[in-house]
Amino acid sequence: MDIALTGIKGIGPARLKAFEAAGIRTVRELVMFLPKEYRDLSHPVALCDLKPGDTAAVRVRVAGEAAQRRARRLTITKVYVTDGTEALPVIWYNQPWLQKQLTPDRELLLYGRAEMKSGCVTLVSPVIEQGEGLIPVYRSIPGIPAKALRQSVEAALHLCEGQWPDELPEPLRRRYGLCERNFAMLNAHFPQSREALEAARRRIAFEELLLYQVALALFRNTGREGVRIDFPERAVDDFWAALPFDPTGAQRRVLREVAADLRGPRAMARLVQGDVGSGKTAIAFAAMALAHAGGWQSALMAPTEVLARQHYDAAKRLLEPLGIRCGLLVGSLTQKQHRLAHEAIAAGAWDAVIGTHALITEGVVYPRLGLVVTDEQHRFGVRQRTTLSEKGDQPNVLVMSATPIPRTLSLILYGDLDISIVDELPPGRTPVQTRIVPEAKREGLYGFLRQEVKKGRQVYFVCPLVEESEAIEAQPAELLYEELRTRKLPDLNIELVHGRMKSADKDAALERFRTGAADVLVSTTVIEVGVNVPNATVMVIENAERFGLAQLHQLRGRVGRGAHESWCFLMAEPNPRLRFMCSTNDGFKVAQKDMELRGPGELFGTRQSGALSAGIGALAGDTELLKLTHDEARALMQHPDSPDARTVVALARERFADRLDEVGVN
Ligand code: ADP
Ligand code: MG
Repeated sequence: MDIALTGIKGIGPARLKAFEAAGIRTVRELVMFLPKEYRDLSHPVALCDLKPGDTAAVRVRVAGEAAQRRARRLTITKVYVTDGTEALPVIWYNQPWLQKQLTPDRELLLYGRAEMKSGCVTLVSPVIEQGEGLIPVYRSIPGIPAKALRQSVEAALHLCEGQWPDELPEPLRRRYGLCERNFAMLNAHFPQSREALEAARRRIAFEELLLYQVALALFRNTGREGVRIDFPERAVDDFWAALPFDPTGAQRRVLREVAADLRGPRAMARLVQGDVGSGKTAIAFAAMALAHAGGWQSALMAPTEVLARQHYDAAKRLLEPLGIRCGLLVGSLTQKQHRLAHEAIAAGAWDAVIGTHALITEGVVYPRLGLVVTDEQHRFGVRQRTTLSEKGDQPNVLVMSATPIPRTLSLILYGDLDISIVDELPPGRTPVQTRIVPEAKREGLYGFLRQEVKKGRQVYFVCPLVEESEAIEAQPAELLYEELRTRKLPDLNIELVHGRMKSADKDAALERFRTGAADVLVSTTVIEVGVNVPNATVMVIENAERFGLAQLHQLRGRVGRGAHESWCFLMAEPNPRLRFMCSTNDGFKVAQKDMELRGPGELFGTRQSGALSAGIGALAGDTELLKLTHDEARALMQHPDSPDARTVVALARERFADRLDEVGVN
């Protein structure tokens, strides 16, 4: 199975390269590349039953000639199809070659999504399918057409047929009713039935999740001595007394947990989770103050320069009066400033260093690094977190998460960390009112925005990122900005920020908004993380249907930070998902729903794909399986010398060797 892909028919040098670029080098790796979803062709739907929003298979006949036209950068191919119950238009974008294939009367098996277009139920960009039953759909690999990919996987499966050893201990398999491995591999790709698919995915996911969690436990159990920070008892109260507000009960409790870790002999590895606005920053600063009181340096790493500067300003206001010398280290400093910063850190002239990735570059030497805080963790990889902690001699690590994560999922993603939850918002917040605004009511919204600005408040507009290849129906930020500035709200001061701007221009625009010089800020999702403008009371989210719920919640958290009534407007046609957003302000509920709807993989994007392999992708919000494997991993690790535990630990080491290497286990 560890044979090279060249052994497979149809894989020449070009495809070999393409596979390699996607991290697939062996037959085994190709077979472990599991489908991201399946098309069910076994129950074609009658056209007369097709409703907008449905994704389905239909068996049809081409009725009439296919037409083609161009609109802006798009080529649109359109044809009518019928199945005797109804005739519907079908359109494809940018697939001009289809026109020739769509000959009148040709029979087609189409699989795709129905949408309402110019008053007509229309199938949009369906796939032309062959075969029957459940058809696997793989994540696309650049340079390999979908069909060729499917065929390569099929060939690889045949090569391995019957040869997968069943490595999981027999008692485990029996206890959890897991199917046999060869059956699982075959049915994960080409399921005989829904039930077979379910059993296969459960088996594969169980194994992957269990091994991953055992690997995390190994990582965690290294139990190396860490920096022990001994601060005077009153340091905690001193910090709370210096704060301009009373801490919430949750903030007090979490700080007690952190303080106990700092004092303990093992290095702290703790994740602080809490809803947007729950006051996690104050906890980070408190920990830094305790480190200082115990005679240690601390570093706080933020994912963007804007955030780093914001934290730095806040730290100076709060920490310097306590005698803590703060410094800033970010990429955009001049060479001279960089040198001075490095010197100040090395000389111990800065007690608390705040910055971006620049904190972990080669040249920076910390003489007494006792605490590392990373803010908004999911933007950083495990490797970066590790690099920063290597700057000191096993310093304490505090991770502040950006979004609430369902508990089961955080056990998986952050199984290497202890978890504290800030489950209380500071008092005096008025909950954000969330409303869905269909296009027809847009003008009315503009009137409302004017009134808010007249009252002295500020407004955010957020547009989704548009992928180059997509149909251009979304509102790119630039177009919206022009529209607002020239026609819709010409009387207001409007700023624009997006990802392709120079960072100096971006910072300047954000600064004008922060200081109140601008009334409206139009942006892509760059403002998502952490920006704090209490005077902003309205968040307008364009094409809200394109965002995940957790992301919408994160964006909504940008308003409702002051005493004024705040609003979040979701620009979209109403749907149940968006209605759910209107019904709750609880970030944990939103995250849970998002996970159920889209699976855990979508919640965090890159982190999973980097850290976890197929098993996680194969899960669709299966919290039960997350919990089962978590408990089993824990049980196994309690008796590490039992035969089952030995087998599983060996498997976990083999499977996750790279990751464990990275942190020095092995
Ligand atoms: P997040 O948890 O999203 O990072 P922040 O730490 O940015 O939240 O806090 C949000 C806002 O709430 C900040 O303006 C902060 O000063 C304020 N804040 C934090 N804790 C309290 C508190 N106990 N009482 C009142 N305001 C608080
Ligand atoms: Mg924050």
